[in-house]
Order: sequence, then C-alpha cells, then structure tokens
Amino acid sequence: MGLYYIFTVDGDWDEYFYSKLSNSARQPNKKTLLAMVKREIRVAASINNRLLHFIHTSPVTPDFFLQPEFISLWREMKARGGNVGIHCHTEDLFHEGRFSDLEKMKKSISSLTESLVSKEINPISYRGGYMAFCEKNIPILEENGLLLDFSCDPGRYLRLEGELIADWRGAPETHYRMSYEDHRKPGNSKVIEIPLGKAGGGTLYIETTSLLSIWKAALALAKKVKEEKRDIIVSVLSHTYEFASFWKRLKIKLALFICKKYGIFVSDEEALEIINQQKM
Ligand SMILES: [Zn+2]
Repeated sequence: MGLYYIFTVDGDWDEYFYSKLSNSARQPNKKTLLAMVKREIRVAASINNRLLHFIHTSPVTPDFFLQPEFISLWREMKARGGNVGIHCHTEDLFHEGRFSDLEKMKKSISSLTESLVSKEINPISYRGGYMAFCEKNIPILEENGLLLDFSCDPGRYLRLEGELIADWRGAPETHYRMSYEDHRKPGNSKVIEIPLGKAGGGTLYIETTSLLSIWKAALALAKKVKEEKRDIIVSVLSHTYEFASFWKRLKIKLALFICKKYGIFVSDEEALEIINQQKM
C-alpha cells in the first residue's frame, strides 16, 4: 500500500502552440529538441530514471520523432527503466459534433504505435493533446495495446474558441478502470486511467502551479493512502519545452524532490504490475 507517481513529460515544443502560424513555421528544431530530451533523461536520474516521455504526433509533424536520433533516445529511456508513450495532438477532432470522427484518431494513434513497435519499442501508455479524450477512444487504445491512459485532469473542462476539447468533470482522483460508456466513470474496459495528481487544493502540474501547491497535493495524497488503506497512482506533469530553461528545470527538480518525500516514482510498466495485483 503506497503512493506511486509516474513522472510524465509531454513531448511538445513552444512553436507548436503558435497555432496562427503556418504548419512549416510551427516545425520543431531537431538540434534543440534532441538537447531538451537529453536533459529530461538527466533530470530523471534523481527519480531512478522513471521517466515517461510522451512522443508527440500531430498534423504539423506526424513522424518527426521517429527519426533515428530520437529512436535511440527512446531506447535509452527504456534501457534506464523509463518508457515512452503516445501523445496525439489531433484535438481538432474533439470539436463538438465531431466526437464520432474516429477514423483519423485511429490512424494517428495506430500509426505512431505501430512505427514504435516495429522498432521493438512497445508503448503501453497514451495521453491526448490538451488532455482531450472521450470514451470512444477506449477501443482504439485497446487495439493498440495501450492499457494506460493519462489524459485525465480531474475536473478539467476545456473549451477553446467555443469548442469542447476536454471534459473531466466528476472523474475520480486516483487510478480506475474506465467504463466504455463514460470515460469519467469506473467500468470494465481494459484501459486504466491514471489521473494527474490533484488533492488538498494542490496539483502536480509543474508548469502551472507553485512548489507549495505541489507539496500540498503530495501531502494530501499520502494522507489519503493512509486513511483509505489502498494504493494511489497518479501522474506528475511537465513538458519538453520546460527543459529549455534553467529555472524551469530547477523547479522540476524541486517538484520531484518534494514528491519523493511522500511516495515512490515508478514506470508505467511497474504501475501496471501494481494494478494487476489489486482487484479492480
Ligand atoms: Zn501536448
């Protein structure tokens, strides 16, 4: 019985979010991205290399992170005890009324997963861009062997330009097996949701929060483990672009240090083992 965290880094870069620019102006710079990903690996050394890097794919650049230099970094992460997951920024599919347009979504998830599997890198984790998700994605994840989803930010309700992107209102604050009927409810699908850590008025979203808030969340989660006498597994969230700045890296290091006082960092595969030992 304990508190377990998965340190997740979404592989996004700054220019991607300048959505008013053309797709060519939003391309990542290879040298910069390689350097930042290497920094992720170095920072994760303090948590026994339990890094889960979510590989970005989007219409802006579907295959950028499948170049050989990146593939060797993904292999290095795995060899050290971490892993990589799938991060699809196909959020235009989540505009209201287009939730049923699953063909593109399926193509995006399957194509990145299959490319990695062909290189003997077998991901088991998924996170939607902007934490977008809906229950119709569950069978797609199952087909691709993606047994863990990290898209849940409990309570998140995001609309962009009037369109619904993500709705996690009422979702549990610790891991649960998802329902095929409603992604926010426990059920009997094969996919386990690992939410972003949120408790005691704090959150483990490093970029948007303070170190005090990180401490509050970790403390409250550890208390919950004791009171409820059960394992709690949540994610700690950061992004590749944060690794460009010395101060942001320092904040990430301190956040990990605070979390470590109250729980243990595990890989996604270790989390799955812990879950499989429980009756869920
Ligand atoms: Zn993202």
